[in-house]
Amino acid sequence: MYLRMAKRLLLETDKRLLWKLAYNFGFKGALSVQRFKRRLKKKGEYFPPFLYVSVINSCNLRCQGCWVDVSAKQQTISLESMNRLIREAQAAGNSFFGIVGGEPFMHPQLLEIFAAHPKCYFQVFTNGHFITDEVAKELRRLGNVTPLISVEGTELISDERRGRTNVLSKTMQGVENCLKNRLITGVCTSVCQTNLEDFVNEAWIDRLIDMGVLYTWFHVYRPMGPLPNPDLCLSKDQQRRIRQFVVDMRAKKPIGIVDAYFDGQGQALCPAAVGLTHHINPWGGIEPCPIVQFAKESIHDPRPIDQVISQSAFLRDFRELAAKSTRGCIVLERPDLLHELVVLHSADDQTVRKSAHAELQAMQNRPSQYSPGEEIPERSWAYRIAKSLFFHDFGAYQNLGPVL
Ligand code: SF4
Repeated sequence: MYLRMAKRLLLETDKRLLWKLAYNFGFKGALSVQRFKRRLKKKGEYFPPFLYVSVINSCNLRCQGCWVDVSAKQQTISLESMNRLIREAQAAGNSFFGIVGGEPFMHPQLLEIFAAHPKCYFQVFTNGHFITDEVAKELRRLGNVTPLISVEGTELISDERRGRTNVLSKTMQGVENCLKNRLITGVCTSVCQTNLEDFVNEAWIDRLIDMGVLYTWFHVYRPMGPLPNPDLCLSKDQQRRIRQFVVDMRAKKPIGIVDAYFDGQGQALCPAAVGLTHHINPWGGIEPCPIVQFAKESIHDPRPIDQVISQSAFLRDFRELAAKSTRGCIVLERPDLLHELVVLHSADDQTVRKSAHAELQAMQNRPSQYSPGEEIPERSWAYRIAKSLFFHDFGAYQNLGPVL
């Protein structure tokens, strides 16, 4: 498998883009995790090596389970504010940024943001609808961007899941434009009841490889926002089936498969609880993660971003509560505890609809990625080594309480 993967990287990519991925993301990303570890050890300070930034709230789609105020008045993070944020994060050792939304390609200055930071690497979570051939050409010229395009179902399911028509064909046109311009292209799915059978199978992986897609990511559906559709949620067994599938495909198929919820031994983790990542919303609010829509701090604070985050009592207490409660997702497993924390800190509801409190209070406890005693370790040595060095819990769960 490794030789086939190497062959794909050598033969299917633009070498300049491959170099940017290897250096700006791979090498410098690893250095940023080392700096994260040193900060933690020396000063007990948390500044995440991977920030996820929602640059805009607007989107052309209306997905089930979406927590973003996509139909509210458009709010963006300006080029100036993004430049300041990125420069300050770079000063603290970061080079990778996840760009989310809404639909990021609706941001009028998105390409300028990428162009202003050639030494950084950006992963853009997008529905692909605005990636024309011209946009893809510009992304190739820049070289420091990987589009991660979400495919949520077959044609009918895509329209149903995303609240518009012809969704899949427009998304696949975006994928095609990226591949034609030899971008490092990924495809992701938020796996739920209506697309589990269509995507969690070998045939779909083979199709992605045949298309030229270089990596994929299977998220697990979260019942969030004003249209949570909890009936789409996956059972504990279905989540475990996805984990087994990912582990098996990693050892067998020449395609990268990302996950953010397990270390090399298959132990569950929450990337926000261990401090690896936090989220910034379009208004500048600094949230524990995209679906925890509460904040006490903002990027518009005069202090540098690393100080704002490392000095945040709310983020610290979120990490400690989440790590004490579960190795899984506290939003799914114990939304009640999370709501108590939000109230304790009088954290601001960051939504325009001002219903985040009610939504959190209405949530039921659900299974997440944590199944103690049922861990599935990585079969691939490459993933085991990479995770043992750069993606694990960094000691965050030493105070983990009994299983709730
Ligand atoms: S709280 Fe849940 S959704 Fe948020 S980062 Fe943790 S596991 Fe993921």
